[in-house]
Amino acid sequence: MSIPEVALSSSSTTTRAMPVLGMGTGGYPFTVDGKKKLAIRHAIELGYRHFDTASLYQFEPALGEAIAEALHLGLIDSRSDLFITSKLWCTDAHPDLVLPAIRETLRNLKLDYLDLYLIHWPMSLKPGACSFPIKSDDILPLDLKSVWGAMEECQRLGLAKSIGVSNFTRKKIAELLQIAKIPPAVNQVELNPVWQQKNLIEFCKQNGIHVIAYSPLGGQAWPGRKNLVLESEVLQDIGKAKGKTVAQVSLRWIYEQGASMVVKSLNKERMKENMEIFDWELSEEDRVKISQIPQCKMISTYSLLSPQESRDSIDLLDVDIVED
Ligand code: NAP
Repeated sequence: MSIPEVALSSSSTTTRAMPVLGMGTGGYPFTVDGKKKLAIRHAIELGYRHFDTASLYQFEPALGEAIAEALHLGLIDSRSDLFITSKLWCTDAHPDLVLPAIRETLRNLKLDYLDLYLIHWPMSLKPGACSFPIKSDDILPLDLKSVWGAMEECQRLGLAKSIGVSNFTRKKIAELLQIAKIPPAVNQVELNPVWQQKNLIEFCKQNGIHVIAYSPLGGQAWPGRKNLVLESEVLQDIGKAKGKTVAQVSLRWIYEQGASMVVKSLNKERMKENMEIFDWELSEEDRVKISQIPQCKMISTYSLLSPQESRDSIDLLDVDIVED
């Protein structure tokens, strides 16, 4: 089953189109084991060509090894068969640290260029080693103009074929569009039937910015927390009637919004299941039912803080990522 591709705007002319379904490599705790690396090989064997990583995930070296192995085994003919995204973490979101950060990412991945480089979060943290969860004392306002200027330099130098942002609200994007010489090609955000982001999608469409959904299946499993996507009765009923799984209904809905998605799975069967969404559609009735699902966002800036942090004492109005 082949995965459709989309051309990104404001990319360098030599860029490759982006497969609309990518494999995620994030997940807390950020540990690397053989199972996660093997999952990349399985994904490539199945036909995944788009991989989403970030310096925060500490997975870049393992992804680089998996890519080198896939080339060695002949699973892919060349580097250019792949679409690789990574992200600038907040400790490097300072004008003079962006170029060193992308060079470090490229060294980790053993690649000459990224297909897409994103500002991971609309905020800065004190420079230094990346620690997670973050401390509220380390949060600094993002110097968007200068940091974006350095992102543009990454594209001009050919280190990234396209540049974009992640977790940006309409307000933050509007601010960026005022100052950007190269507009962002992408905004990667939490998006699924339980957090539909209709206004943001429309705004991005009007401005030629492609939306990529993260946590398209409701995110990673947390002990004691319900997965509102996979446990949605509405999605379960639609899936039953169509002979599809809830995951497939959720991913198909995202695709029908005109967005791409990065899904994480370590299981080869589920990876295959997640690819089987391109040769059928939801009915108008399904779409109406999905549009009525109560909305709930999972990831906000507050969720990046350790539970011991006093949330009342900090003002995150400018960096918080909740969108209506
Ligand atoms: P997700 O892809 O929505 O969900 C991952 C979970 O769903 C895993 O526990 C996986 O378990 C399970 N799963 C996968 N396919 C399934 C299926 N067909 N049926 C049932 N369960 C299935 O969550 P996510 O990892 O949060 O998001 C995906 C990627 O987005 C991340 O890996 C990361 O690359 C990116 N991301 C970006 C940001 C950002 O700030 N930009 C934030 C969060 C995530 P199994 O492994 O057992 O299949």
